[in-house]
This record gives sequence, C-alpha cells and structure tokens, in this order.
Amino acid sequence: MIETILNKADLSIQDIVYLLSCEGKDKEMLFSESAAVKRKYVGNKIFFRGLIEFSNICRKDCYYCGIRKENADISRYSINDDDILAAIQFAHTNKYASIVLQSGEIESPSFTNRIEKLLLRIKEETQGKVRVTLSLGEQTEETYRRWFEAGAHRYLLRIETSNPELYRKIHPNNPIHSFEKRLECLSTIKKTGYQTGTGVMIGLPFQTMDDLAGDLLFFKEFNIDMVGMGPYIEHSDTPLYQYRDQLLPLSGRFDLALKMIAVLRILMKNINIAATTALQSIDSLGREKALKIGANVIMPNITPGKHRNDYRLYENKPCTDENPEDCKSCLEARVHIAGDEIAWNEWGDSKYYTERKKDLEK
Ligand code: SAM
Ligand code: SF4
Repeated sequence: MIETILNKADLSIQDIVYLLSCEGKDKEMLFSESAAVKRKYVGNKIFFRGLIEFSNICRKDCYYCGIRKENADISRYSINDDDILAAIQFAHTNKYASIVLQSGEIESPSFTNRIEKLLLRIKEETQGKVRVTLSLGEQTEETYRRWFEAGAHRYLLRIETSNPELYRKIHPNNPIHSFEKRLECLSTIKKTGYQTGTGVMIGLPFQTMDDLAGDLLFFKEFNIDMVGMGPYIEHSDTPLYQYRDQLLPLSGRFDLALKMIAVLRILMKNINIAATTALQSIDSLGREKALKIGANVIMPNITPGKHRNDYRLYENKPCTDENPEDCKSCLEARVHIAGDEIAWNEWGDSKYYTERKKDLEK
C-alpha cells in the first residue's frame, strides 16, 4: 500500500491521511523517501535565517497565542531600530545572509513608515547583501508594496489552518480575525512579488487528519514558496488552554509534525521548508530530526538579549536564555549531526520561487 502511494504522481487527500497516520516500517519508508527527495531536489545545504522578534505588542487576540493583546501577564517591549540594526550587523558579520523580522501585528501609518525606513537602512548598511523576510501579519496592499519596494524579499504569513471552520474556532469572531482577510493578504503578498511563505499549527484542538491533509494540498494549490509549520503548544494564559485535555500528547504532535514535513517534501519537492523552534521545544533534537527528513531552513534566534523571555508564544519556548553567539555554535554542531552543511553567506532563495518567477516572465 505505502509503495503504491509513494509512487503516485499526485496524492489524494486519502493518500495523505494514510501517510500521516502510518507507523512502524511504513513510517520508516515515508521518512527515507522524503529524505531522498530532499537530497535530490534541494541538496544537503541548510539555509540560516537570523530571527529577530523585535516586538510583542499585538492588536490581535488569537486564542492560542501567549502574546495576544488581552494577556496582561507579560511585559510588552519593542526593540528600537538601532538595536535591530546591531543584531542584523551581527548576522551579516557571522555570514548569515538572511534575516527575519517578526513581531505582533500592528497596522498603522506610523508602523508602516517605521518599517519602511528600517528596511532602507538595512539595505544601505549591509550594502544590499542581507535578504530580509518579514513576518508582521496582515497589512494593506499599499503597505506590502511599500515594504517590498524598500527591500523586503520574502513574507511569512501562516494561514494557521486552511479549514475556515477550524480557523473560526481558534480566533475571535470579528473582522480583524477573519479567515477570508488572511487568505486575501496571502494572495496580495504573492501578487506583490514576495517569495511567499505560509504554514499551519499541527495538533490544534478540534483539528482532524483530513484538515492537516487539506493544509498540505492548500500549500500546493497556492504555489507556496516556503513553509514553516510546527506543533501547536498550549499556553496557560490563553483561551485554548481549556481544551488541553483533548490534545494529542506532545510526543504525538511532534511525530505528526515530522510526518507533515515529510509528506510536504514529497508533494512540493523544491520549496523551502523550515525546521521550526516549536519542534525543538518538544524534543531537544527536534529540528535536527526535521532536517533529516525534509526541512532545509533553520531560524536561529538573534533577538537582542533581555527581551527574549517576553516573546513567549507557548510554554517552554527554548533558547530564551542563550545569547546569539551560543545559539550559532550550538546550531552549527546540530546541523552537522543531521548530515547537512550550512550554506554560509547564501541567500537561499526557494528554488520553487526562482522557477515560478522564470515562468511568469516568459
Ligand atoms: N503576528 C504575526 C502573525 O500572527 O502572523 C507574526 C508573529 S506570530 C507570533 C507567528 C506564529 O506563531 C503564528 O503564525 C502562529 O502560527 C505561531 N504561534 C502562536 N501561538 C502558538 C502556539 N501556542 N503554539 C505554536 N505556535 C504558535
Ligand atoms: Fe498577535 Fe500573531 Fe500572536 Fe495572533 S499569532 S496574537 S497576530 S502575535
């Protein structure tokens, strides 16, 4: 059965559910196939993205997230532009050719201006050598365009789940938490010209195997260039915490996340897939395991020191006490364990995006 599925050119939703549920020998076959696809289509190079979580101020109240607006139990911070630039200089000097700026969601003219100016400074101060990914939530078309023109190359906006009903269950029911708006933003990001990344949380309350299989097909239908997905991890100061007894155990969510990465690698052979931090918070070798079976991107946290503990999306978020230098050497050793090489000083664009762009230009 599994051989037949793995030999198919197109996978149906039932095929994917079968793969996500397999165990024992079948699971080994799935992982060895996805590892082989990775080697063949994207090689053994791992791309680093220095992650800067520069602010936990957010206008939204997603039911799963520890930095949601209503959580009064955390101290809010916003790192100033000079400190962000110093972190980027650290990345640049240490041969990371790519960084990610992430924060809670703010939508305002002053935030748009601030990020635009920051992007122009990054371009100038690194002589355009550092690729910038933004992960700043839902914005207007004009804002996405201005940030793109100021030098941002990639944008990450997780769809969280591709099932609109499930989306509604994990968000408040109001216009700033609308599934349709999120989808529209993702389309706008792509249309603007960004390398477009999305992702989902795995193991959410109420989520089914069909939902997860649907997520993978959604990435394919949407021609997504990069994916960052990881296990959902509960946080005690959030509304979804009340459903904690209905969740798979953490080890089950971890296992499912690895299978999602493996099946995605088989479905979309040359996209970029991140080994996310949430994997590591469940299993200290979680990201290495993900690299082995299909992921090719890792995002070391280079957020300047004192605020790291305040960007707590979920419980036991790892590496919050380390400094960027520690993170870098620990990751280097970990990548070698997985049998891969770090592609220093390379932008690491998604091969899928490069091909997609060539097709568009024809
Ligand atoms: N505010 C922006 C947004 O929502 O797109 C970017 C930052 S947000 C913190 C980044 C991602 O964190 C979200 O897309 C969500 O998937 C993930 N996240 C939030 N809470 C989580 C949790 N409890 N477990 C796992 N991932 C979580
Ligand atoms: Fe804000 Fe993003 Fe967390 Fe939602 S997931 S509450 S938008 S930081």
